[in-house]
Amino acid sequence: MNLVYPWREAPLARFAVIGDPVSHSLSPKMQHAALRELAEPGEYIAVQVPESEVEPALDHLADLGFEGINVTIPNKAAACRWCRTVSEFAATADAVNTIALGSRSGINTDGPGFLETIAAFPGRRATVLGAGGSARAVVLSLSAARYEVQLWNRTESRATELAALVPGITVLNKPSVANADIVINATSASLGGDGLNLDWSEAELHALAYDLMYSAEPTVFLASAGDRPKMDGREMLVAQGALAMGFWLGRPVPREPMRRAVGI
Ligand code: NAP
Repeated sequence: MNLVYPWREAPLARFAVIGDPVSHSLSPKMQHAALRELAEPGEYIAVQVPESEVEPALDHLADLGFEGINVTIPNKAAACRWCRTVSEFAATADAVNTIALGSRSGINTDGPGFLETIAAFPGRRATVLGAGGSARAVVLSLSAARYEVQLWNRTESRATELAALVPGITVLNKPSVANADIVINATSASLGGDGLNLDWSEAELHALAYDLMYSAEPTVFLASAGDRPKMDGREMLVAQGALAMGFWLGRPVPREPMRRAVGI
């Protein structure tokens, strides 16, 4: 658990993650590991910002002298509105997770970070389960990288809306793991121990089972994938965090100390 500051009481630090809730974020520990490895000065703290107060909170943190802010649930869309310039990917995703406060510029490192984690796996067919905030970044990045994407969501209309943002996405009417090289669980079902009743006997033996939830123990989704390759959300957390730190510092950021900090 982090020491969390309400935004009006935040002390000056160099970097922060803002969210609500934010006490369980692994980012302060992980980003400190990066800063120390690079012999960079400064602190990275967790700041509580309710969704309705994102814009005044960012004004305040900028006035205090913070350099960089990561943004987490539920504040990514509001952060997008605060920025003066926003990358094309972040604008399409309507989600900024990384801000350079001085230039008021916002990017989204969730999508590129996710792609970095699957680069070593073969195949170009991906199935995404879910259509919430993280699924949005994942689907848009897969599509930009020319994967064939199948998409399912419990509330089908949200899948249809997400699929309409980019051409060539197939919307499934039931959750399936068939005909995919990578199956990504971007739902929050694992939080409640729900494995989505998938029939893994239909899946390719080489298919990567990827649960975006961070978990040192296999989630029900990962356990149900049997002997197939598996990944949980900590790899994406590290990759998006390293890209964010690289954006602020203007230099490459080694992943290994960050991976160790989150237990992988
Ligand atoms: P979100 O925006 O709240 O979306 C939740 C999604 O889960 C929706 O598609 C929802 O479907 C679906 N869902 C919830 N309960 C379900 C159930 N019992 N059965 C089937 N579908 C269910 O959440 P999010 O921010 O995208 O987060 C999703 C997951 O990604 C979480 O596990 C979160 O921890 C993880 N995450 C990881 C990273 C990372 O860096 N690794 C970053 C962000 C999030 P409906 O549309 O039908 O409600």
